[in-house]
Order: sequence, then C-alpha cells, then structure tokens
Amino acid sequence: MPVSVLDVFKMLPGSNCGECGQPTCLAFATQVIKEGQELERCPYLPEEQAAAAAAVKSQQAEGMGRRRESVAIALEALQEKVAPLDFAAIAEGLGAVYGETGGRPYLEVPYFGRILRIFKDQVQYPPGSRSNPWEAIFLYNYLASQGSRPLTGDWIAFQSLPNSVSKVKTLERLQRELAEQLQGRKTGLLEKIAALRGELTDLGEDAEVKAVFRPLPKVPILFLFWDADSGENFPAQVRFLFDAAVADYLDLESLLFLVESLAQRLQEAA
Ligand code: SF4
Repeated sequence: MPVSVLDVFKMLPGSNCGECGQPTCLAFATQVIKEGQELERCPYLPEEQAAAAAAVKSQQAEGMGRRRESVAIALEALQEKVAPLDFAAIAEGLGAVYGETGGRPYLEVPYFGRILRIFKDQVQYPPGSRSNPWEAIFLYNYLASQGSRPLTGDWIAFQSLPNSVSKVKTLERLQRELAEQLQGRKTGLLEKIAALRGELTDLGEDAEVKAVFRPLPKVPILFLFWDADSGENFPAQVRFLFDAAVADYLDLESLLFLVESLAQRLQEAA
C-alpha cells in the first residue's frame, strides 16, 4: 500500500515546532507526500522510523518525477480552458471579485479564509503563503465551472453524486481517519471550527457537532461529528455532506482534494 500523509504524520514527533519551515507536522507530512519534500527537513525524526523513512524515499523516487510532469500538463490544459472566459462576467456566479492590473484580468477568490488572486496564467498567493500546483489545478477547475448554477440548499452525500462509486472508499477512509483523530477531542474541535470560520448550524442529522465550512464561496461543506460512546460501544464518526449543485462547481477529484484539505486542517484540532 502506498505511504499516505497520515502514515508520515504518525512517524513525526507531533511537536509542531516549525523548524522544517511548515507550521505543523501535518502540513509537513502533506508536503512530503504531495510535493516530494525531503523527510530530513525534520531534524527530529525518531531513529526507529528509519525503515519507514526508506519506504517514503523509494515511493518519492518512483512517483514524483512522473507526477510533477502530469501536474504541469494538467495545469496547462486547464489554463487554456480558462483563457477565453470573461472573468468580469463569471465573477458573481463564483462568489469572486473581478479586477485588473496592467491590463491583466484576475479574480479574487476566498479560499480557506485567504484571498487568492487568480490570473489566467498564474495563482497569486498572499505574502508568506506557499504556492501549490495541486491547489492551482483545483482552483482553475472551479473557475472553469463558471458558476452557472445557483446553490440549492439541499445537502447530499458524496455517493449521491454521479459517477462517484469508485471514489466513495477514499471519502470513507478520510472520514474514518478523521473520526479516529478527533475522538474525545470535542472541545479542541470546536475551537478549530471557530478558527477556520466554520459556522455551527442546526442543519443535518442528530450529530453532536454540525458546522458549515465554505472553503470556496460556492462550495459549502456540511461537517457532522458524533463522538464515541463507550457505553454503547459506538466509535466516533464523521460525515461530510455537499450542496446538491456541487458537481456543477467541482469535479469529484477536486472535491475530494478540498475535503482532504479541510480534514487536514480539522485534524490539527487533535
Ligand atoms: S520540524 Fe519536525 S517536529 Fe517540527 S514541525 Fe516540522 S515535522 Fe514537526
């Protein structure tokens, strides 16, 4: 089985000291798996993790070259698709703000609380933020949707989306891993929800914690959490629900990327 972000995260000390250049161990683990960052950047990797570290290196050696190339190709194809769009006309439908600088149109899009300035050939991050080619792919996918359909206000499960069968397991794994991390940590979770500007809500089922996140203006995600009940032998559970129009804004892969990004941020509550 390939080494996952969570596998790397479990290898790290978890002290969030920031010496690797990332604010948290989880952010560093994500970089290692998604961008081929060297594990040695963490000076505190325990010696007993040497074998696991070798597995990460061999996975990076096998896949990263190919992966970088395919990311660059996908990004270029999406930028070509977005190039003819009239940014001024699609801004409102995407919840974005239109602007121009030096004759170059751009859209300002709030993304997890940061304002990104997206040109037709470049995503500009706020000072101090790192660029991420995976994120750029998913943002151009959002723009390419042109925001043509209003949100419905109806919440649906991932498996209700067309052609989602092959990806349902990925979402289920994300939900299961997040539930394990959050078990018994409801207070930290509530603090994290507030920090991420999630809105507590009465929507949805009888979950103990219910919050709506808007990582992108037109892609709200309803997060539901049930903590473990030892008396009933009931493990903690997490579910993510989506607006019924979500498929008009993001393809399934991009949606999973967004949920994974949200889950990583919520895991930091643990
Ligand atoms: S240097 Fe290591 S321990 Fe410190 S934040 Fe980075 S990964 Fe975590």
